[in-house]
Amino acid sequence: MQEKKKILIVGAGFTGAVIARELAKENYEVRVIDKRSHIAGNCYTERDSDTNIMVHKYGPHIFHTDNEEVWSYVNSFDTFMPYVNRVKATSGGKVYSLPINLFTINQFYGKTLNPQEARNFIEEIADKSITDPQTFEEQAMKFIGKDLYYAFFYGYTKKQWGLEPKELPSSILKRLPVRFTYDDNYFNHKYQGMPLNGYKKIVEKILDHENITVELNSDYDQSVNSQFDHVFYSGPIDEYYDSKFGTLDYRTLDFEEIRSEGDFQGTAVMNYCDAEVPYTRITEHKFFSPWETHEKTICFKEYSRAYKKGDIPYYPVRQVKEKAMLEKYLEVAEAEDKVSFVGRLGSYRYMDMDVTIAEALKTVREFLAVKQVVALS
Ligand code: FAD
Ligand code: UDP
Repeated sequence: MQEKKKILIVGAGFTGAVIARELAKENYEVRVIDKRSHIAGNCYTERDSDTNIMVHKYGPHIFHTDNEEVWSYVNSFDTFMPYVNRVKATSGGKVYSLPINLFTINQFYGKTLNPQEARNFIEEIADKSITDPQTFEEQAMKFIGKDLYYAFFYGYTKKQWGLEPKELPSSILKRLPVRFTYDDNYFNHKYQGMPLNGYKKIVEKILDHENITVELNSDYDQSVNSQFDHVFYSGPIDEYYDSKFGTLDYRTLDFEEIRSEGDFQGTAVMNYCDAEVPYTRITEHKFFSPWETHEKTICFKEYSRAYKKGDIPYYPVRQVKEKAMLEKYLEVAEAEDKVSFVGRLGSYRYMDMDVTIAEALKTVREFLAVKQVVALS
């Protein structure tokens, strides 16, 4: 019998887990390592021992997608419960609804506009001189105007990214819709939900295959590469190369826990848009499982700050000035034939879970297709 080909996967987040499973199904022998003490990467969830609330340890994760294949993939590992993310925002001492919708506009301006009137009104106050917005600030000025920009985006964005919105690309703001209806769903996707048993359970099931072994508390050392036929690396791309072209910029987060009886803020997410409030948001985790009831509550204040070595790199910043450095890393990575750089950190891109899973499935398909060509030739 032919010996199984050996694969090493660095990182047991969604990227690593999905690649592992798809290759295990093709009879590869897969070892997954992670330096953390648990699987599931930043999507890790666990039940709090005191309250029994499902806590999203590295910040709340809501699954939303238009991708049919990905939706059916995750649903094959757990039941997804109905959940719609409806975010509230505190600004200038008042509470509003986000994303910017007809309710936000009417409340903010003290008006009773209908959809068309609101459209006309925002068009009036928006900056018409901007034709092709490049920066976050230009995008905001063009589509919502100065007042809403300063009330909801300027302070929050400075706290979140540690930069002036002028220095950030417009793509960050493009993630959020602006609506001239009362629809306050934070996302536009066809499917949205929360896994009944949490994300850790899903990743555990994905990894549950006879051809997969998982090793936790295990930091990757490149000297093991020679023991494997191929390595899929989902850690930071600059770290792999010892930052030889420079250090890519990330943002990290600090979470301050709040516990109390009953409800703390009465909703899952409250953003704090004023620059003077040091945190960006407070999340109340029992509201991410609306089908459950809990007498106590647990919340987290979220503080964003510059990443330094040893912190968790939560967000790739992708400043315009980093582009040249990133390109150098991508070029050397592309030239590797036994190592593939995958996932959010391996590609240094902002990727939601659905995109992460779709890309992992694509990576495996491409990998297998090349192997088949090699075997035939
Ligand atoms: P990760 O989850 O980061 O996993 C990478 C793993 O590699 C980690 O476990 C790490 O420990 C390990 N690793 C790194 N280097 C090494 C090494 N040298 N040796 C061993 N192991 C290593 N997406 C959504 O769809 N909806 C949301 O609501 C949402 N909210 C988010 C909120 C926050 C605060 C953040 C930061 C992200 C959010 N995301 C959300 C995105 C989501 O977290 C990512 O899509 C997903 O985690 C990407 O999976 P990954 O496996 O690529 O990376
Ligand atoms: N944002 C903001 N105010 C808010 C919510 C979002 O300024 O109340 C900005 C912020 O820069 C954020 C971006 O809009 O990074 C995209 O919002 P999203 O909710 O997707 O945030 P992220 O996933 O980056 O935390």
